[in-house]
Amino acid sequence: MADNENSTDVQFGGHSLVWAGDWSPESARFAASSASRAGYNFIEILVAEPEKVDPVMTKDLLEEFNLTATGCLVFNGDTDISSTDTSKVDAGLDRGRRAIDVVAAWGGTIIDGPITASLQPFEQPASKENRQNSVNALRDMADYAADKGVSLNMEIVNRYESNLMNTAKEGMVYLEEVDRPNVFIHLDTYHMNIEEDGMVEGVLAAGDRLGYVHVGESHRGYLGTGNVDFDAFFGALKQINYTGPIAFESFSSAVVDPALSDALRIWRNLWTDSDDLATKALAYMKERY
Ligand code: MN
Repeated sequence: MADNENSTDVQFGGHSLVWAGDWSPESARFAASSASRAGYNFIEILVAEPEKVDPVMTKDLLEEFNLTATGCLVFNGDTDISSTDTSKVDAGLDRGRRAIDVVAAWGGTIIDGPITASLQPFEQPASKENRQNSVNALRDMADYAADKGVSLNMEIVNRYESNLMNTAKEGMVYLEEVDRPNVFIHLDTYHMNIEEDGMVEGVLAAGDRLGYVHVGESHRGYLGTGNVDFDAFFGALKQINYTGPIAFESFSSAVVDPALSDALRIWRNLWTDSDDLATKALAYMKERY
């Protein structure tokens, strides 16, 4: 364990896609039991299609395996809250509210993920109208979430997945516009490695508004086998005394969610053994934080 005063408070989690491509009762049991066995404190469950996640079954599973869970929300082209088509914004808001309902119903308090717009390549920069629609929708979702004791953590993703913002500094400007106390920045080392000036500045820019962290390699496979400078990143977390959740995120063509895996361009098989991957990732993170 690293010499971090806050290390005993820190909760480590794993994204459900490390173990399972859906949240059927069988897949959920496999993912939760595996996460618990590997030593994780929480599991991050994809709630992009909230109707496919049974909160009662999930709550029971979490209790059985002594885990908590966060909900990862993703929008697609038909549910893009930054769209100039109000029917798409409305569909996104509906998805967002139902995702918040599901997370609250399993006893969760955290939504994370790229929640400011559709996760997709855009052909142009966002217009003022795109941005304002996103800000307005996020305010609506934030107020809805606040009533249920849920925070929204907006993931800053790279230029191939969002045209609204790609750095923590841009995220902080957006956060000021949204102006809601339960909305925070979510940083991901995979995206930071593409867009930020190193692995420190973005963390410092977010400061006490950093609410959620994804730890992922530059190729989204085994930690320590790619280009991300994790020593610098965890050093920056220590500098801001970060005590929020830290979730390991990794994707391989070995475990596929048909919608998300394609949106993230997971064409390659980076690993096949979820247990080995997850166990080594947790040890790698704990050595540094
Ligand atoms: Mn991520």
